[in-house]
Amino acid sequence: MWSFENDPEFQPELDWIDTFVREKVQPLDYLLGSQWNIHDPEFVRLVRPLQAEVQARGLWACHLGPELGGPGYGQLKLALMNEKFGMSRFGPIVFGAQAPDTGNSEILAHFGTPEQKRTYLEPLLANEVVSCFSMTEPQGGADPLLFQTAGVRDGDEWVINGEKWFASEAETAAFYIMMVVTDPDAESPYQRASMFIIDTDTPGIEIVRNYGFYGEREDTHAHLRLTDVRVPHSAILGEPGQAFAIAQTRLGGGRMHHAMRTLAQATRAFDMTCERVLSRSTKGEVLARKQMVQEKIADSWVQLRQFRLLVLETAWMADQGQDWKAIRKNVSAVKAIMPQVLHDISSRALHLHGSLGLSHEMPFAEWVINSFHVGLADGPTEVHKMVVAREVLKDYKADDAQFPSYVRHEQERHARALYGVEA
Ligand SMILES: Cc1cc2nc3c(=O)[nH]c(=O)nc-3n(C[C@H](O)[C@H](O)[C@H](O)COP(=O)(O)OP(=O)(O)OC[C@H]3O[C@@H](n4cnc5c(N)ncnc54)[C@H](O)[C@@H]3O)c2cc1C
Repeated sequence: MWSFENDPEFQPELDWIDTFVREKVQPLDYLLGSQWNIHDPEFVRLVRPLQAEVQARGLWACHLGPELGGPGYGQLKLALMNEKFGMSRFGPIVFGAQAPDTGNSEILAHFGTPEQKRTYLEPLLANEVVSCFSMTEPQGGADPLLFQTAGVRDGDEWVINGEKWFASEAETAAFYIMMVVTDPDAESPYQRASMFIIDTDTPGIEIVRNYGFYGEREDTHAHLRLTDVRVPHSAILGEPGQAFAIAQTRLGGGRMHHAMRTLAQATRAFDMTCERVLSRSTKGEVLARKQMVQEKIADSWVQLRQFRLLVLETAWMADQGQDWKAIRKNVSAVKAIMPQVLHDISSRALHLHGSLGLSHEMPFAEWVINSFHVGLADGPTEVHKMVVAREVLKDYKADDAQFPSYVRHEQERHARALYGVEA
């Protein structure tokens, strides 16, 4: 049955999350540094009790499906939950749903051996540790075929050398899940790399520098150098040569959750804007009465609703049993439009708040920059638009006639023939 209403049994959970995030989690954004700094005494004092409340409510780390040992809420409910988590910087980690740990736990659950699950997945799901996903390299991110970090087999070990780039949370992570070229001569370029699980304290790994950008509390994106790093063969996740397939597995759900958290941020910017334009007067009337201001409000609201529908439809398709590969057109469409939505709505919010909007008192400049973050991480917008176009065009075929079949005189001839109407 088609419906735009939430499941009545699930709505109370969403309402609980909404109130909990607004009242208890959002204040943490003003008090704490990086959300991944889980051993910081203030994190332990302030965040751990909130995580315990979430666990008691049965809403902890809900992202794994039942086949992977999770509660199996399905993508639609997860999307709606992430829309709430995204109202606060600390929302995801309070609910055990923070990137990159969600994606990493998904691939560990999917491809890990029982030993790997015990050693890495269990503490990760319990947020006793955090992790890092390291794929990108300094010489190229958007084209994974340029990756050079290589592993050479030496008996029962692999010796890895190379450099990695923008490895988020490398400093706080207990382990990396890292893409490494292990078979440079493999016939398919997509079978040349393997995924390794590497403890961050393994000798030979150096953080050359941590990079940050405006709005981030700490510099958490690492340039890594690996020099003769030795790991056992058992550190490979899945099969050798399977890194590309594994990387794809973690991206579908992750992109949906990220989209709903981005929507939450854009919605906050929109809510603040609406309150402000109703409150601030100039030239004898509130801003809300100016038509050019009304246009901005209308444009933002329409963008929010369009985007939300696209994400929920994609999540719904995933719940109908279609795998991520089958719906990659939709997933890439979500990823491609997400930065635009956040950029436009945060920019209008900034502008309509005037000088106050530009200042550090308001989050809008940070959110505008975040729109560039979401346009780059997990692949730049251009690449996702290319996927959308390529997938869309698969449903069409070329016509080798000189003029298209839908040219007016052809259509008219067809219509006359069909209904026996003389010219
Ligand atoms: C905040 C943040 C966190 C990140 N975290 C991680 C992480 O944890 N682990 C990790 O491995 N990586 C991470 N990344 C890296 C991310 O995956 C890369 O930034 C992304 O893949 C783009 O690679 P690049 O930065 O090298 O850009 P480049 O490959 O240098 O691309 C630069 C620009 O070129 C254009 N471009 C590229 N390809 C095409 C194309 N085919 N067609 C048209 N234009 C194109 C786009 O405008 C693109 O932005 C993170 C990035 C950011 C911004």
